[in-house]
Parts: sequence; C-alpha cells; structure tokens
Amino acid sequence: MYKQKSHSEFTGFVRVQGAREHNLKNISLDIPRDALVVFTGISGSGKSSLAFGTIYAEAQRRYLESVSPYARRLFHQMTVPEVDNIEGLPPAVALQQQRGAVSTRSSVGSVTTLSNLLRMLYSRAGDYPDGAPIIYAEGFSPNTPEGACPQCHGLGRVYEVTEQSMVPDDSLTIRERAIAAWPTAWGGQNLREILMTLGYDVDIPWRDLPRKDRDWILFTEEQPTVPVYSGFTAEEMKRARKQKLEPSYMGTFTGARRYVLQTFANTQSALMKKRVMQYMISSACPLCNGKRLRKEALAVKFAGQDITELSRLPLAALHRLFAKYASSHKIDKKHPEKEIVTGALQKICWPAWM
Ligand SMILES: [Zn+2]
Repeated sequence: MYKQKSHSEFTGFVRVQGAREHNLKNISLDIPRDALVVFTGISGSGKSSLAFGTIYAEAQRRYLESVSPYARRLFHQMTVPEVDNIEGLPPAVALQQQRGAVSTRSSVGSVTTLSNLLRMLYSRAGDYPDGAPIIYAEGFSPNTPEGACPQCHGLGRVYEVTEQSMVPDDSLTIRERAIAAWPTAWGGQNLREILMTLGYDVDIPWRDLPRKDRDWILFTEEQPTVPVYSGFTAEEMKRARKQKLEPSYMGTFTGARRYVLQTFANTQSALMKKRVMQYMISSACPLCNGKRLRKEALAVKFAGQDITELSRLPLAALHRLFAKYASSHKIDKKHPEKEIVTGALQKICWPAWM
C-alpha cells in the first residue's frame, strides 16, 4: 500500500484537493511533511473536519486496506472522507483531544490505536511455543473473553476478604457492629437478628466466639431463611420459638464475605462499591502476575518479550526496537507476513513518535 511515489512525496507535502467533509467548502491545500503544522480558526470553521475527518480518515482507510478483515474489526473505522484527492499521505496516528479525566491506567498505547497494532503484531508475527495454535489479535486484549485471564477476568488484580479486613476491632460484639463490612442500618440489624435466631451470641466480644462460629458467620456460602423476632432479647426469642409465636418476618442470612464480594460485583451505586471496597484486600493476580492475559497469550513473544512487557516500554525504546526489525529486510520464506507487519508498524508508528 506504500508503493506509489507521487510528486508531492518528493516535494515533502501532503496535497489535499477538493475537501468537502462536513462544513469544508471544497478546499485545496498543501501541508508540509516532517514539520509541526497547526490549524487555527474559529469554532466550527472545519479544523477537525480537515485534520481528523479528511486527512486522518484517508490515512486510516489506506492503511486498513492492507490488513486482514479480522484485524480491521479492531479499529473504530471512520467513514470515507469527502475529498477529490490526497497525495503524499504517510500512514498516520491520530491523538484526539481528551475530555474528562484520563485514568491512571491510560498509557500512550491505550489512548491511541497503538495497542491494537501491537495485538496484530503478536498475532501475526509473534514467536509461538512449539505446537501452540495461532491466537487472533483479540486474544491479546484483556478486555475480551478470548484474552482475559480467567482468574482476575482481565483486571490484573484479585480481591479477597479476611477476618481482619471485615472485623477491624475484635473487642466489639456483633451488636456493637464488630462485622464492620456488613450493611449499616436495617440490613445489619436484620442479619444480627437472624444470627440470634440461629443461636449465636451477639453480646460477647467477637474474639470470644468459637473459631468455627466466626468462620461460618464470615465465610459461609449457605443462605438459610429463618423466622426473625424483631426487637426480642435472646431469651425472649428462645421462648417465642418454643411457643411457636408468629415471627416478625422471615429473614435470609448472607455471610459477610458473600455480601462484600456480591455488592462489589453487582451494585450500581459508586458509593456502595466504595464502601465495601474498604473491606477488601487487593493483590496482583497470582495466575497472570498482574499481566491481565491468559497464559497462552503471554507465551507468545516478540523480541523475547510478551505483549505486556513490550507495551510497558518507553516509546523511544519501542521505536528503536521496531526500527531494527523493519530495517533488516530479510523476508522469512515461512512467515512472509512478519516483514509486512513489522514494516507497517514501523511506518505507522514513526510519524507519531517523532
Ligand atoms: Zn489474572
């Protein structure tokens, strides 16, 4: 796709003719290559239509013609721009202005299409262990079911709860809210009354409860439904049950770990999520070592590194690495696509890094 050399490539210009995207009124212009060029103008004058809607859209279109249909799906494809002709256009990377906060997880790779290119590179040109099947580009993304580490679901961290994290002060009784992780207000009272029905002592310090009881209250997956006598003391409750008095309601028990993890996973409320998170301990996922991908994907190497290691390289180092590959123009007869992919990568990445 990079074969034709036109007049403007020799003269160092990108020549745009008859651009009519959005509000552009059939404009033609020459833009110097290898230079910092700024478009200025009032809002709505067509700066973005020219830079992103026309020039970048056309660069992307030309590049995507050279890749397979499955790889094309990884890109947010722009529409074909309204323009008569563009000459001297190099492969391009577009960085759009970011609105709102960029998260701490963002890297240059994640705010550009670079990460998609790296996935293609590993899929097409990575070194696979003997006998390993080819993994498609999606398989190198922690945000797809094909790629995500099965233990941490692609988060890179696992969350667990412990007695200490859920019961920060073991001198308190259950009535005094020893189980800090439990819901406050009615939900907590409900769980406490269920424990009373089940015969647990909610008025002695947590640490004095037998180990077996503490473990059951915190970690059980059982969810028994029992009659609850609201506002009764333990003695009154025993009597009421013996006399088969009508209970206030039937209550279903949920262990503290189950409550915390389920709330964390399912709540729609950011506040609730934040509340239960303080009782969770997070650590790097032991299966992927925090790299977020399946081990099959991490086993594929390029330049001796897995895709996570390569993605963490500073851009200048990444650039040097690709330049080395792309400049050694040896065509591997068995894997002719290797040269194509690395060559394309180097070409497409250079303009953005220089
Ligand atoms: Zn993992």
